[in-house]
Amino acid sequence: MIPNSAEIRSWLQANTPEVLRDPKHPDRGALAWGGSRRPFHDPDVERWFREVTARGWAVPDWPVEHGGAGLDAAATADVRAELAAVGAGGLLMNFGTLMISPLITKFGTEEQCRLHLPRMAMGNVAWCLGFSEPDRGSDLAGLQCRAVKDGDDYIVTGAKVWNSHTDRADYMELLVRTDPDAPKHKGISVLMVDLRSPGISISPIELISGRSEFCYTTFDEVRVPVDNRLGEENEGWRLVQVGLRHEREAVVAMAMTDQGFTGRKRRSLIELAQTAGPDAVPADVMADIARLEIENLAFAATKRRARQAAESGQDCVHPSVLKYVGAQLTQRRRDLEMGLRGAGGVGWEGEGYDEEELRSTREWLRAFGLSIEGGTSEIQLNIIAKRVLALPTN
Ligand SMILES: Cc1cc2nc3c(=O)[nH]c(=O)nc-3n(C[C@H](O)[C@H](O)[C@H](O)COP(=O)(O)OP(=O)(O)OC[C@H]3O[C@@H](n4cnc5c(N)ncnc54)[C@H](O)[C@@H]3O)c2cc1C
Repeated sequence: MIPNSAEIRSWLQANTPEVLRDPKHPDRGALAWGGSRRPFHDPDVERWFREVTARGWAVPDWPVEHGGAGLDAAATADVRAELAAVGAGGLLMNFGTLMISPLITKFGTEEQCRLHLPRMAMGNVAWCLGFSEPDRGSDLAGLQCRAVKDGDDYIVTGAKVWNSHTDRADYMELLVRTDPDAPKHKGISVLMVDLRSPGISISPIELISGRSEFCYTTFDEVRVPVDNRLGEENEGWRLVQVGLRHEREAVVAMAMTDQGFTGRKRRSLIELAQTAGPDAVPADVMADIARLEIENLAFAATKRRARQAAESGQDCVHPSVLKYVGAQLTQRRRDLEMGLRGAGGVGWEGEGYDEEELRSTREWLRAFGLSIEGGTSEIQLNIIAKRVLALPTN
């Protein structure tokens, strides 16, 4: 029997380890990403994670046979709110559940669904995306990583770059060229690659934030079973379109959340301005805050409208519009927040800064990537010009 939200709440309140409320808890990565390469440090947290995922609460709206709880949209929102309330709002919100599972569900065989979806839902396997190449980022359709059929396998050779969290992932959704003679959009296929296959080399790249979120991944004659192809051979571009749509929506959804993974609301810009004192914030900055808050409200209403339309099978807002506007609004918010914090806004480490200040510095730096990942803002504007506004190309 499906539990109601009161039962879910009382179970979570009674069973969630208190340490999960600590945003610096070392098991946060394992909770968000899962997978075999992020072991838990705390047995209580791991036990809780196994029980919650076994109940299907990490992906409440997935069918039970795929590892979900089979709940409708309203009940799913309730479960997510209850998880956030106990400090686990980002439970398994990752590439696998948000971006790759929709493709497997739509294009995968029954066997592929049975194999991959429950392992994602239980957090046993973590996924990453292998799209961009050293000379092919925006021009994704020009990708050169080759896959040549040899019996029951493809032999894959090439390189991918900016692959987030690949060093901690088990599987990659990899875009490869299977027909070099076809027009560029027509010769692409999608493979699901076990990252432990011989011939794969993964090198982390260090970032401005001091973290190493990205990897450079090379494939040297890597054998991938033909059975691991998702969708038809050379039809990968169609899957890419669907996948990018989910990626763009997920990027915006994750960036715009005011609660983040900890489920703890941070102070609004207005609260920060009030803390600074009545005359400390210049009038033009207050006007910028007001403008941003109004645009955020309009954007939230637009996202709600888009979600409602999508639930009834209609398109009303192109995901490129959401991605472009969401990235802009988040970057403006981070800039304003940094300015309002003064010297505290550039805190990096040490006793002189509180936890919120340290987080704010890292989030400010992280926000630069929002207008690049999942397709740059310029590319979103090109798409909007062509597909939404139908502007002439010359
Ligand atoms: C945080 C983050 C996470 C990422 N995660 C992943 C991942 O997991 N997997 C993965 O494969 N990739 C990932 N990427 C890579 C990302 O998809 C690429 O960086 C992006 O597509 C841009 O490609 P590029 O870096 O090669 O830039 P380029 O394509 O070289 O673009 C350089 C500049 O030229 C502009 N430009 C290029 N073409 C046009 C055009 N036709 N019209 C107008 N302007 C243009 C761009 O907007 C950009 O400003 C990630 C990137 C970031 C920042």
